[in-house]
Amino acid sequence: MSLAKRVFEFQQIEQAILSRRNQADEIDLRLNHNSAYEKAREELSVAEQGKEDLERQYKELDAEAEQLRNNIQRINDKLYGGKIKNPKELMSFEQEATMLKSNLVPKDDLLLAMMERLESRKAEVQRLQESCKTIEAAWQKEKLDLKVQKDKVMGELAGLEKKRQEIAADIDRSALSTYEGIKGRKSQAVVKVEQGRCMGCRVTLSVSELQRVRGMAIVTCSNCGRILYLS
Ligand SMILES: [Zn+2]
Repeated sequence: MSLAKRVFEFQQIEQAILSRRNQADEIDLRLNHNSAYEKAREELSVAEQGKEDLERQYKELDAEAEQLRNNIQRINDKLYGGKIKNPKELMSFEQEATMLKSNLVPKDDLLLAMMERLESRKAEVQRLQESCKTIEAAWQKEKLDLKVQKDKVMGELAGLEKKRQEIAADIDRSALSTYEGIKGRKSQAVVKVEQGRCMGCRVTLSVSELQRVRGMAIVTCSNCGRILYLS
């Protein structure tokens, strides 16, 4: 086997390793992130916060209304308890009761409206909770498939890494360092020669270049600098 062919095979192994590593990274990304789930969680969190705020406001207003009701009750007890006989005093209590009742009406109206809003918020939270559960269940199922895929890719990667070491040990050091040097600059360090042309830069090789490529040594393209491989 020519040295160029061995380096070409080495390159193929390295490219396969890179591709598997990218696959593994993509799988990891899908195992750890799910934008639909993250979006649904975010929406749920906003809706829950809104519901809690409304519940707190409702409780505060309800406590105020309750206080008014108690005061009205207290005054009614005095008015109808029969102990107070003085008409002036009775009138004063009646006025106070009327004022308190008129304060209570808008609060009760608001409480009713808030209760309706709260019910719709609760329904929204429930809907989003179910949506989160559905998305999460689908994601968990997908994760099982992804883990199987990841195991397969990692197994392939281990085999390729082993093969890479074996081929590297079988390649002349200077040829390997020539390859590494080109690899740093160009994505494809070894290219095929087809119909007398370098497949890296498409330039036609000279007769003497072609002759040297047919030999056993490593030959680089005089135009693009890539290692030439004649299959
Ligand atoms: Zn070239």
